[in-house]
Amino acid sequence: MKKKVAFYTLGCKLNYSETSTIGRIFQERGFEKVEFTDKPDIYVINTCSVTDNADKKCRKIVKEALKHSPDAFITILGCYAQLKPKEISEIPGVDAVLGAAEKFQLMDILETFEKKDKPQIFASPISEANTFHNSYSFGDRTRTFLKVQDGCDYSCSFCTIPLARGNSRSDSIENVVKSAQEIAASGVKEIVLTGVNTGDFGLQDGERVETFFDLVQELDKVAGIDRFRISSIEPNLLKDDIIAFVADSKRFMPHFHIPLQSGSNKILKLMRRRYLRELYADRVAKIKSLMPHCCIGVDVIVGFPGETEEDFKETYNFLNGLDVSYLHVFPYSERENTLAPDMEGKVSIKDRNRRADMLRILSEKKKRHFYEQNIGSEFTVLFEDDVKDGKMEGWTENYVRVVAKYDPVLINETKHVRLTHIDVQGLMEAEETFQEVLRH
Ligand code: SF4
Repeated sequence: MKKKVAFYTLGCKLNYSETSTIGRIFQERGFEKVEFTDKPDIYVINTCSVTDNADKKCRKIVKEALKHSPDAFITILGCYAQLKPKEISEIPGVDAVLGAAEKFQLMDILETFEKKDKPQIFASPISEANTFHNSYSFGDRTRTFLKVQDGCDYSCSFCTIPLARGNSRSDSIENVVKSAQEIAASGVKEIVLTGVNTGDFGLQDGERVETFFDLVQELDKVAGIDRFRISSIEPNLLKDDIIAFVADSKRFMPHFHIPLQSGSNKILKLMRRRYLRELYADRVAKIKSLMPHCCIGVDVIVGFPGETEEDFKETYNFLNGLDVSYLHVFPYSERENTLAPDMEGKVSIKDRNRRADMLRILSEKKKRHFYEQNIGSEFTVLFEDDVKDGKMEGWTENYVRVVAKYDPVLINETKHVRLTHIDVQGLMEAEETFQEVLRH
C-alpha cells in the first residue's frame, strides 16, 4: 500500500510553490498525497519566519497533526526551520527538521521516514543555501505561483529573510520558460511570478547574467498562458521599461504590488530601504499615466522604532494622496538578529495596532474608490474553482474581484464583462458583454 503524506504551509506564495513542488517529488516516488485530516503516515510542515508567533503556530499544527495521526512522522522545513532548528526539534512530536539547503533533498535525507529515538536536524549554515530549486504550485486549475528567484542581497533592518533564505539567486530564463510551457500544457491560464526579491531576477552564482525585464519579454511569448502577474517588486527595481512593456502587453496584467513600508523618508532610511518616498510617488505616477486602470497594491509597516506620531501621519497622508488601490498593513514586529530592535524610539504595541487599524480603514476606502472608478468599464474575468453560497468569483485583469452565479462551465474560463455595481460584501457584480474587450 502507498504511504500517505500531507502538507501544511505557513507564510508566503513562495512557500506555497515550494510545498507544491515537494508534494510532486513525493508523488513521483510513489507516495499518495492526502488531506491533513486523512491519517497520513508523514506530515510535512513548511514554516515561515515572518509569521508572528511562528513557534506557537508550529506547535499548534504539530499537535493538531498528532491528533489526526498519532504515529505520523513529522517533518518541519522552511524559513523558521532554518532560523531555529534546535528549538523546533524540541517541539514534542517533531521527528525531523530540515533547513533551506536540505528541504528539496528530504526524500534522500530521510529515505524511509522511520522514527528515531531523537529528532533529527539537518540544517546547514544559510551560506550553503546557494543553489536554485525551481518550483511551482498546482493548487487550483486557474492560477499557479511560479518561483523565479530566491533569497535577497538587501539588508533591510527589520527583515530576517536574507538569514532564512540566503543570497539572491535565480532560475535561468530558459528554465522559467520551460516551466511556463509545462504549466500551460496542464491547462492553467494564469501564472504569478514569485520570488523573495523578484525584480532582482537574473543573478546566478553572484553574477548578473540576465534581467527581470529580459524574463518578462520572453514569458510574454509563451503560448497558452493568458495572464501573467508580477507578485511583488521593489520600487527601485520597477523601471520604466518594465512598466511600458506591461502597458503594451496583452499577457502581463495591469497590476503591481509594490512594497513601500513607510511614507516617511526618515523611517525609510532607518529601515535601510533603497529609495525615498519621491521615487515611490514617481513610480505610481508613471504606471497610472500609461495604465489609468492599473491596480497598485502597497505593503506598509507601522510602528517601526523611531516612528513618531508625526512620522506616521506623514505615511498616512502620503498614502491618502497616492493613487493606489489597496494596502497590506503590518504592525512592526521585532525579529532576532536584525538591526531594528536595538534602535531607539520603540513604539508601544497599542500604538502599532492603532496605526495599523487606521491604515486598514484607509485601505478599505482606497479599494472602494478603485472599484468605483472601474464601474461601467469592460474587462475579462477569469473565474475560479471555488463555490460559496451558490456563487463563484473571478478576477479582472486589474484585480477587481467579480462575483457571479455559480456555473461550472465558467470555471477556468475568461468571460467578457461590464462591471455594474458593488454588492453589500464589497464584491463587484458584472454583466456579460460579447464585444471585443478594450485593452485598459
Ligand atoms: S528587500 Fe528587504 S524586506 Fe525584502 S526580502 Fe530583501 S531584505 Fe527583506
